[in-house]
Amino acid sequence: MRTRNQRTLARSLQCSGVGIFTNSDIKIRFCPAPENHGIQFVRTDLSAARPIPALIENAVFKQRRTAIEVDGTSVEMIEHVMAALAGLQIDNCRIEINAPEAPCFDGSAQELSEAFLDAGIVEQPFPRQVISIQQTLTVENEAGCFIQAKPLNRSVMALGYYLNYGDDSPVEPQCLTLEINPDTWMNQLAFSRTFVLEEEVDAMRELGFGQKLSAADLLVLGPQGPIDNELRTLDECVRHKMLDCLGDFALLGCDLHGYFCAHQSGHALNREMIREIRKTHQSSEAKANWKVA
Ligand SMILES: [Zn+2]
Repeated sequence: MRTRNQRTLARSLQCSGVGIFTNSDIKIRFCPAPENHGIQFVRTDLSAARPIPALIENAVFKQRRTAIEVDGTSVEMIEHVMAALAGLQIDNCRIEINAPEAPCFDGSAQELSEAFLDAGIVEQPFPRQVISIQQTLTVENEAGCFIQAKPLNRSVMALGYYLNYGDDSPVEPQCLTLEINPDTWMNQLAFSRTFVLEEEVDAMRELGFGQKLSAADLLVLGPQGPIDNELRTLDECVRHKMLDCLGDFALLGCDLHGYFCAHQSGHALNREMIREIRKTHQSSEAKANWKVA
């Protein structure tokens, strides 16, 4: 199987932005890390906080976002950061952050991805681990949303997403399939923003969230379309759902080869797929060992 080498940043870089849940100004610093380090977050606002490896074992449930936690210390809203790293194949990175959530930037991963490219990405002398999907796996929920993973006869990840919120939704039905690599990441997905419906924004504001953000900062969809804003592409919503998938799939901690078809999946189902892959991969590894013995 064709594999690539692990990669890290050529130098450290820092970005800042507003947190959607804490309404605070957040500094986030990305540092190069050695081989097999993986992605780890360190809370610099807490003394002696343990690094939190961005792995599915440390994922905790939060509504509509992805969070990781170790020993009661957590970081939330990590999915767009994880997607930018995964999209550009940056495997080893120490992330220092002075808040319990990652900044939301403009709701996309564009600024971060450009900052990573500016800093430069270097190859390391160790192969990146890959899990190649060998059998069809399906995860689904009560609402009829599902993700299916299938074997592919090429050493790549292909991701397809189908989105249809129904006739009453301001979001038109849309679907897209892409082979995922750093080029398609930068040109097709990184720019796509988080979207929320107008009524969801009102509910968020009542809870005190998003106070420093206006409709111009956030893609808010009303019955007539975006409010005080414009779509970057007609299918920006499905592209962002794919971005979220990539960020969540990155919690596996290795590359994935196969065809992934997602039907209205969100963060919880994305994580369930990763848990399923981890389970079946471990069992197929154990079987292979048994055969050798
Ligand atoms: Zn998102």
